[in-house]
Amino acid sequence: MKALNNTSIYTAPFVTQLVTEHVLLTSLLPSIPTQTLTDTLNSQYPSGKRMSHHSSALGKTPSGNRRLKDLLQQRDNRTCADCGAPDPKWASANIGVFICLKCCGVHRSLGVHISKVLSVTLDSWSDAEIDAMIEVGGNASANSIYEAYIPQGISKPRPDASQEHRSNFIRSKYELQDFLKPSLRISSSNSSSLKSSLSRKIMDNVPSNKGMVEFIGVLKITVIRGKNLAVRDMLSSDPYVVLTLGQQKAQTTVRNSNLNPVWNEELMLSVPQNYGPVKLQVFDHDTFSADDIMGEAEIYIMPLITSAMAFGDAGILENMQIGKWLKSHDNALLEDSIVNIIDGKVIQEVKLKLQNVESGEMDLRIEWTPLDQ
Ligand SMILES: [Zn+2]
Repeated sequence: MKALNNTSIYTAPFVTQLVTEHVLLTSLLPSIPTQTLTDTLNSQYPSGKRMSHHSSALGKTPSGNRRLKDLLQQRDNRTCADCGAPDPKWASANIGVFICLKCCGVHRSLGVHISKVLSVTLDSWSDAEIDAMIEVGGNASANSIYEAYIPQGISKPRPDASQEHRSNFIRSKYELQDFLKPSLRISSSNSSSLKSSLSRKIMDNVPSNKGMVEFIGVLKITVIRGKNLAVRDMLSSDPYVVLTLGQQKAQTTVRNSNLNPVWNEELMLSVPQNYGPVKLQVFDHDTFSADDIMGEAEIYIMPLITSAMAFGDAGILENMQIGKWLKSHDNALLEDSIVNIIDGKVIQEVKLKLQNVESGEMDLRIEWTPLDQ
């Protein structure tokens, strides 16, 4: 299983995209600039407790994850900033709060220009994102700003609050910023329309879940390589891979003039309760016209998810085979696809024959992580 150990060293385009967004976002947004928020927070603390503006200047610490976990251990971060549910596993990286899965759904629906949601355990965080979280100082600090003045008649949702109550409160708190100290409220309609036009481009590339989808887990799909792909230009093709699950899309980078491209890129998709197959499509990138399709395939993820659920916490299980997606005449598999537990992770290797095209194969590796862990 040597290949598995290499997974973490590949830079996924997803991660690059997040970093780019972060730079864009921090330059545009949020309505309260981070600096202002930090200054405001600092002015409320005795000097000995001030948050550092220079955490990033200290150089790389041994582990960004460690710093994030430490922050999560802080007492006020052990409950959701919005509803108080225990053990939040999600965070809004630009706002600087830790939140639960239900509130995460609302944050996602606000769009990344308001709240950029990342999983504490599953997503890759940049140093800058971790620095920003540390600078805000945790849920209590952020709430002292965002919930400074909650008017009478408005109550903070509890963990079991209705979807409507939760959604209304979170929108008022972050999108409308109704509960800020009056002196901090920014009421320029111009700035918000500028904000939405500038952020539209970013949002187009990010799954938005308007219908309040609840997720049961996350697929990390490593697009390993393509073989013998179809020719779409004169002699070759410039392929890239698009994965679609429900409304979410994720795609690899383009490999120029290559019919046997090696990507080794990780793409992440959240799995909603009612999931269908993941659709894989290969396209030929074309600068001057629409991209041509170079084949497609459906990946049935039910065998992976149901077997993982049946076996429970993979972290405490020995390496073993737990399930199988069988090759048949009406699916795209080149061979039976085995679901294994490997070093505490649920992993499925998938070899696909591309459909509706003259030639082409794809190798993938899928890792499943349930969200109830
Ligand atoms: Zn919550």
